[in-house]
Amino acid sequence: MNENEKRVLMVIFGGSGDLAHRKLYPALFELYLKGQLAEHFAVIGTARRPWTHDYFRETVAANLNVGTTVQQQAFVQHFYYQSHDVQDADHYIILKKLIDSLDQEYDLGGNRIFYMAMRPALFGTIAAHLKSEHLLSSAGYNRLIIEKPFGHDYQSALALNEAVISTFARDQVYRIDHYLGKEMIQNIPYLRFDNPVLAAVWNRDYIDNIQITLAERLGVEERGGYYETAGALRDMVQNHIMQIIAMLAMPKPNDFNDAAITAARREVFTHLHQYSAAEVPQKFIRGQYGPSTDGQALGYRQEDKIAPKSNVETFVAGEIRLDLPQWQGVPFYVRTGKRLPLKKTRIDIVFKAAAKNLFGAEKLAEPVLTIEVEPEMRLSWHLNTKEIGQSTAAIPRELVFTLPEREAAQVPDAYERLILDAINGRRSNFVSWQDMAGAWQFVDGIRQVWEQCQCPKFPNYASGTMGPLAAEELLQKTGRTWIFKD
Ligand code: NAD
Repeated sequence: MNENEKRVLMVIFGGSGDLAHRKLYPALFELYLKGQLAEHFAVIGTARRPWTHDYFRETVAANLNVGTTVQQQAFVQHFYYQSHDVQDADHYIILKKLIDSLDQEYDLGGNRIFYMAMRPALFGTIAAHLKSEHLLSSAGYNRLIIEKPFGHDYQSALALNEAVISTFARDQVYRIDHYLGKEMIQNIPYLRFDNPVLAAVWNRDYIDNIQITLAERLGVEERGGYYETAGALRDMVQNHIMQIIAMLAMPKPNDFNDAAITAARREVFTHLHQYSAAEVPQKFIRGQYGPSTDGQALGYRQEDKIAPKSNVETFVAGEIRLDLPQWQGVPFYVRTGKRLPLKKTRIDIVFKAAAKNLFGAEKLAEPVLTIEVEPEMRLSWHLNTKEIGQSTAAIPRELVFTLPEREAAQVPDAYERLILDAINGRRSNFVSWQDMAGAWQFVDGIRQVWEQCQCPKFPNYASGTMGPLAAEELLQKTGRTWIFKD
């Protein structure tokens, strides 16, 4: 066995689903091609459909776009399918037999990862049966990976958590937020803490505001049923945006280990400034897309599985504050929405402008450090420089670093990184319960105020635009503006 090779049995609940086929199996294949998984691993996909092992293997192979056919075929031989209704206790007895036999056949040392790639309402049932039917191993490790959405408010997330930790110890639970696996998000602590020059100015004395944009070009597509129960605040702000803020604002961890990183991130989630009911409308605005101006794209209310008078938001913009001394007075402006003109995840760190130009009197631009997360991976700095020639004016110039194509091609997909972390027992890129709870409490405070009022009138932005006017006004009233414009 090569020294990188891992021994693990992965049981995927929801193994016939979209997430498993589009994300999990290709990620496992990358790990296989890189030698992280070789001979000593097996995957059991479970779902209700009565598939055979061979048919399952064909569906897995059909989603692999790299490697040779020989490699793909060798890989899928490690896959097994078990038809399984998660509500039926007898099915766990059959599943246990398959798990035990594969553990022996592949010499897996009892290492087990259970992956919940299905609707959260079923997590508690699965966890309870794993315990009562003795599917946990006593030899190796047992770990549980859970997907979002983790609850729809604090109370439901708490209930879900209690159900899960009645079977798994807290340190066996890995809550995925795949944004934490993205290369440029991983890059943030390196930028902040490995460059003393940046570390020195990463605080309220030098930063005026931070802007985070998660723009999606698509609408709800076929996820209408789910989206009607969620909306942009729950779907994007509670998790991905909050995790990005934690990476940007956490204090320097005392050490490069899981406990220290988790403790640093927790500082952020325990210091989210809660707004009063009167403050919420000033600090958070919402929107819903209507048809595009050329009539080519439908409005949200015309989409499949959407109520014709739905009041669900597809756009949110807001200002988040942290009650931490180093961030006093620094607004974190966030916005996310569907059917915006393009797909883009980007962070703009807006530094304070100098009071005046060295030689002239004109107002200077703020220096801005931009981290583009996707689709391009790019860093750029807008700095004030001398205008060429006899002029004494200062003008902003952009210094750009784009990941070279060859390196960009080697960047692991977020799921590949996070699954390997889970196999290695590295927990720092997963969401702790305390962080989850803090984020839900913050978001619930906004949601509860919104629920009191059917306002504003939806739809309030056209498909293909950067969201409602109120998102611009949110910054304009403080004399600021969004750095990223379409
Ligand atoms: P999906 O509908 O494609 O798959 C759901 C799976 O659960 C199927 O395999 C289905 O057979 C199985 N299932 C449902 N009820 C079952 C039961 N009673 N017993 C056994 N199996 C049952 O859904 P998906 O898109 O794969 O998403 C799964 C979960 O992951 C959802 O909670 C979703 O919100 C979340 N998620 C999905 C994505 C994605 O990209 N698809 C991304 C992030 C999170």
